[in-house]
Amino acid sequence: MRVIAIDGPAGSGKSTVAKAVAERVELPYLDTGAMYRAVAYAVLRAGGDPADEEFTANTARSMELDVGLERVMVNGSDATVEIRGPEVTRSVSLVAANPAVRVELVSRQREWTERRGGGVLEGRDIGTVVFPNADLKVYLTADPEERARRRAKEVADLDYETVAADLARRDTFDSTRAADPLAEAADAVLVDTTGLSIPEVVTRIAQLLEERS
Ligand code: C5P
Repeated sequence: MRVIAIDGPAGSGKSTVAKAVAERVELPYLDTGAMYRAVAYAVLRAGGDPADEEFTANTARSMELDVGLERVMVNGSDATVEIRGPEVTRSVSLVAANPAVRVELVSRQREWTERRGGGVLEGRDIGTVVFPNADLKVYLTADPEERARRRAKEVADLDYETVAADLARRDTFDSTRAADPLAEAADAVLVDTTGLSIPEVVTRIAQLLEERS
């Protein structure tokens, strides 16, 4: 089973890069951030409080979740747009800090990958927790200003300052939580994407893969 782990903070270019790498190496792609977002969405949708650990954990365990390349389905409805909205973005880090939610989603991520015989997974803890024996681990970074600029371009209705503040808040929360914090695996290859184009980053990762095969 071939597994490529791509971790890093928000706005580091993870999604675009991971998708392109998956295409290049012909492996399925999984956005694990979308899974945490889907749990936050399902909790809010049910009128629950993301700070209610028990309710949030039960929601994660019982929900039907299908994260595809184009669409994210939650309990049979299309939540692709909603999981990127401001309400979900505000509460997702709290939901992701819930250890029971992580146990459930990590198990679903492993199952998803095993069923497909491998994959390119992007997230925060893929190389450290989900697949510590991944064939290649890449940790993407970029200057905080550049990350905020990239995100601000994607979300047209939010200004740079709001996006920058949100990224800084999530970075701190994600890297300081007790359960599986955002961290670089000891054996990950660090790629600083500041000033690099997407094709440059993808080529660099393809080279790393070649060196290892
Ligand atoms: O990747 P994205 O920014 O959509 O992820 C949303 C949130 O989900 C992150 O801020 C983090 O709190 C959480 N997450 C996580 N572990 C992962 C992927 C995402 O805790 N593997």
